[in-house]
Amino acid sequence: MSATRTLETLLGRGAPGAPAIRAPGRPPLTHAALRTLAAETVAALNARGIGRGDRVAIVLPNGPEMAAAFLCLAAGASTAPLNPAYRSEDFSFYLQDLRPKALVVQRGVETPARAVAEGLGIPVLELVPGAAAGSFTLEGGPAGTPARPGMAQEEEEALVLHTSGTTARPKIVPLSQRNIAASAAHIGATLELSADDACLNIMPLFHIHGLIAAVLSSVAAGGAVCCTPGFDALRFYRLIEEERPSWYTAVPTMHQAILGRAERNAEIIARVPLRFIRSSSASMPGPVMEQMEAVFGCPLVESYGMTEAAHQMASNPLRGTRKPGAVGLPAGPEVGIMDEDGGLLPRGEVGEVVIRGPNVTAGYEANPEANAKAFSDGWFRTGDQGMLDADGYLQLTGRLKEIINRGGEKVSPLEVDGVLSAHEGVAQALCFAIPHGKLGEEVGAAVVLREGAELTERELRDFAALHLAEFKVPRKVVFLDEIPKGATGKLMRIGLAEKLGLSL
Ligand code: ATP
Ligand code: MG
Repeated sequence: MSATRTLETLLGRGAPGAPAIRAPGRPPLTHAALRTLAAETVAALNARGIGRGDRVAIVLPNGPEMAAAFLCLAAGASTAPLNPAYRSEDFSFYLQDLRPKALVVQRGVETPARAVAEGLGIPVLELVPGAAAGSFTLEGGPAGTPARPGMAQEEEEALVLHTSGTTARPKIVPLSQRNIAASAAHIGATLELSADDACLNIMPLFHIHGLIAAVLSSVAAGGAVCCTPGFDALRFYRLIEEERPSWYTAVPTMHQAILGRAERNAEIIARVPLRFIRSSSASMPGPVMEQMEAVFGCPLVESYGMTEAAHQMASNPLRGTRKPGAVGLPAGPEVGIMDEDGGLLPRGEVGEVVIRGPNVTAGYEANPEANAKAFSDGWFRTGDQGMLDADGYLQLTGRLKEIINRGGEKVSPLEVDGVLSAHEGVAQALCFAIPHGKLGEEVGAAVVLREGAELTERELRDFAALHLAEFKVPRKVVFLDEIPKGATGKLMRIGLAEKLGLSL
């Protein structure tokens, strides 16, 4: 068993005096202090009867304590970060689903999770923040003796998350120390992360993207992560100016909001050069990628990730060709394309994207049905559809569940999104299935226009017809002020027709 794939070793990478966790207006937590904090945290858990393999749910405000709590608790136990915006009913569901041995909340921060945990007999530990960014002590909870004390081993669970629930009821994904360490290493290699880098984290820390790409990859590379309360388009440029990060990572909807305010912040953009910008978790329209690169004067690296892979699976390269509309080359795990019978397809053919590698979960928890569908000959089926092109780049056509079936003719929603997004008057476009009496499904599109743009449904459909086969042209286009998003910022394609009351 290699000793290189545990939180304990990843936290040992940075120079002792260099910052590991930063937050605006606070002294940084150095790598040496983070290591001490991890050892103290594991000892504090052990003294309360919590050891390796035991789960600790975390409900904390997004920020440096949340980042540090994840890293330090995961060094000797398993962490279950939950969205602090959940209501009692949600907490009740997640805490019963995950069965943690304790819940960590922040002293002085109200959350319904506390009462729910108490009702379920789950001990509540209070995190008390210190002066340095992310520093804390743990208080409360009963004393006990754990079955397995000390620092966690490679195959033990480090993190357990539910999938985002974009296409179905969220599934439980246990990830081992090895899974998350491998993913952080893959991301570090793709982005050439080093001790000189500082990531501005604007992603929520109850989702794989922020936890692994922003927090763990930065710290494991010996660099720093600067933690903010979350994404706020109005505060973004001020943070860039004050914190001077070398990069940030976000979902496309955030990049689009950032791009929308770029012109009035041109001076800051010129003063604070970013080494690169990373995008993941949902499809980045090609035109947005090109504009981001032009405006920021740095590479926009689009990567493909999912919870079950501890995030990264493929990525466009930092150097070399970044193909707009492609999610890049395999970047960590092996990537294949599989047909319905489990056979691997050659380049150029469309099928289900499958992966295998050290970052991939061993399986969903308590869901034999989902596991039976997901694993095939050692490969994990992602549920995404796509192909490897002649250069080996992965091009996604959509999620299998989101492919529109128009009376037997299959329409790739990502292809239609891409065409509509290329219109100069369009800020955001999302194509979706509308139930249709005869065809089963018809193609619909929700569009947000750019400020000042005027466009009719007819004009947009005529534009789409120039670039798409007739059957792929949206039959119905609705103009919205905003397209509904999930908790992690993803646009919600499934259920949109019902939400908008559309049928044909
Ligand atoms: P659920 O599995 O519960 O429906 P989810 O799949 O949205 O939710 P995540 O694990 O957060 O949960 O997201 C992974 C999915 O996000 C991928 O399977 C893929 O469909 C999509 N995705 C991630 N990165 C990209 C990208 N760069 N381009 C297009 N889609 C992406
Ligand atoms: Mg999924």
